[in-house]
Amino acid sequence: MTVDDVLREIKGKVRGVIPPSIDVSDVEFEGALVVIYTKHPDKFAKKEELVKQLAKMLQKRIAIRPDPSVITDTDAAERKIKNIIPKDAEITNIYFLPEVGEVIIEVVKPGVAIGKQGILLNEIRKTINWSPHIIRTPPIQSKTVQEIRGYLRSMSDERKEILRKVGRRLHRGISVGERFVRVTTLGGFREVGRSCSLLNTQDSKVMIDCGVDVSSENGSPYIHLPEVLPIETIDAVVITHAHLDHSGLVPLLYKYGFDGPVYCTPPTRDMMTLLQMDYLKVAAADARKIPYSAENIRDVIKHCITMDYGDTTDITPDVRLTLHNAGHILGSSTAHFHVGEGLYNIAFSGDIKYERTWLFNPAINRFPRLEAIIMESTYGARDDIQPTRREATDRLKDIIQRCLKKKGKILVPVFAVGRSQEVMIVIEDLMRTKQIPKVPVYLDGMIWEATAIHTAYPEYLNNKLRAQIFQQGENPLLSEIFERIDSHEMRQRIINDPDPCIVLATSGMMNGGPVMEYFKEWAQSKKNTITFVGYQAEGTIGRRIQKGWGEIPLNVGGNVVNIKMEMSVETCDGFSGHSDRKQLFNYINNMSPHPERIIFGHGEESKCLDLSSSVHKRFNISTAAPMNLETIRFR
Ligand SMILES: [Zn+2]
Repeated sequence: MTVDDVLREIKGKVRGVIPPSIDVSDVEFEGALVVIYTKHPDKFAKKEELVKQLAKMLQKRIAIRPDPSVITDTDAAERKIKNIIPKDAEITNIYFLPEVGEVIIEVVKPGVAIGKQGILLNEIRKTINWSPHIIRTPPIQSKTVQEIRGYLRSMSDERKEILRKVGRRLHRGISVGERFVRVTTLGGFREVGRSCSLLNTQDSKVMIDCGVDVSSENGSPYIHLPEVLPIETIDAVVITHAHLDHSGLVPLLYKYGFDGPVYCTPPTRDMMTLLQMDYLKVAAADARKIPYSAENIRDVIKHCITMDYGDTTDITPDVRLTLHNAGHILGSSTAHFHVGEGLYNIAFSGDIKYERTWLFNPAINRFPRLEAIIMESTYGARDDIQPTRREATDRLKDIIQRCLKKKGKILVPVFAVGRSQEVMIVIEDLMRTKQIPKVPVYLDGMIWEATAIHTAYPEYLNNKLRAQIFQQGENPLLSEIFERIDSHEMRQRIINDPDPCIVLATSGMMNGGPVMEYFKEWAQSKKNTITFVGYQAEGTIGRRIQKGWGEIPLNVGGNVVNIKMEMSVETCDGFSGHSDRKQLFNYINNMSPHPERIIFGHGEESKCLDLSSSVHKRFNISTAAPMNLETIRFR
């Protein structure tokens, strides 16, 4: 059956179910959605059960859109919206997307604007015929979120075309013949960095992650394999989370001619854009080879189809995708693939944290069905046991107390995404509950922007934070103790200020970034303390400091300068976004259903191998730790 046959059949079914008194002017595919255009959107809104019945019958998600001929002009529509939505919802912005008949209403309190059981939304729809879409105004302006939303608005015609193309492609019908499920390991196996896999069935080619190993000259995954090429034959790319070792080379796919969709959560889209832009900036500053342009990053944004946790969508004729919380960073997910209407179920864990952290709920390990899972092994070795969150908090408290007693300064090198927000939450809590004295906490580098993105998506934070934010209106990330450093002058002033303070600054392993400016000046005083909260790779300046070198050679303007180390050096483990060995075992042990096979990757070779054999012995499950470039057949 061709896509036109499929569409004709669907149109027939739609017209058969909908009473003649309700107009259906057109039916279209947009991605996995079946979009019904009507001159009577209000009648559809009243008959919710009708849409449900259609969705069930077609096994598709349905969107009802007003026919362009019936929508109210935008000025009048805006006035009516302002009349319907109560003042205390605090509307900050209203804009219209004529090509989809949607109006986006940005408000401070979405709950108030939506009304009980969506009553106000229905009223808006009935009054102006536009479909209202409420989004939250970010409490601190994130430049990234704002620019992405603006860009998508300006692109909405092209975007609609893209979605239609995706829709037609994914409804092309299933081929006859032998059915199979295989995975090719393209990068990030028996190593960390450049994560990339290809899920291949008789009707689908889906790429999962496309990362870059930033520490290596040749840090690209094997995307030139015959299995992958020609690149236009890839149906879809799924990104588990924004870290560059999972998302860094997605723009490169567009440079090479890919023009299909990228599936991820909304925060992953925003955060990976931030990190990819920064990656280009750093590469240019270091005069390294720049793999792609900012235009290619915009291509990714344009092709992103975002999904919330728990949403399920068809991504190819025989593969259905669901994203689940992975507990690792904002928006991080485990990708679950349901292949061939019950033929096989396979998940890619992505990076997972199987413990409730200060920011996120633990990773989801319960699925309706599951035969195989591809899992990370970052801390898979026998001695990879980390302190609990509680122990880490106590340790950080102790370090800060000791340093502040000496009236010193505390410098914390951090990665912008994930760890810095966790450290912020802990420090805010310690200060608010008066367990440590109140001193200013300065944020330097990309941390502020990453934090702003976190505040735009509070529904992705853990239950406790959500309750604190939604019920008490208190977001610890917005506390007044945090101050943003946004200029060279301000940084200089803080460096020379004699008063105690805490500085969180990038980069996390001290291979550059603003953290170096503070370090150069503060290293030579016994009063100050440097505190590591993240992994320091061999060969980095961070690792040398951690090892206790008496002098640290730094490259200052082309000359090597030896910085004498007088400041205290502390390490505070337990802030990791990865599961330790114990948590990985618990994750598997409590997994439901128990998979038949587990494939390990995303870890040093010895860790992948050890974890694979230990899990096999303990659970009697078939396991493997493949190298890159292997293909495994599952069905
Ligand atoms: Zn990660």
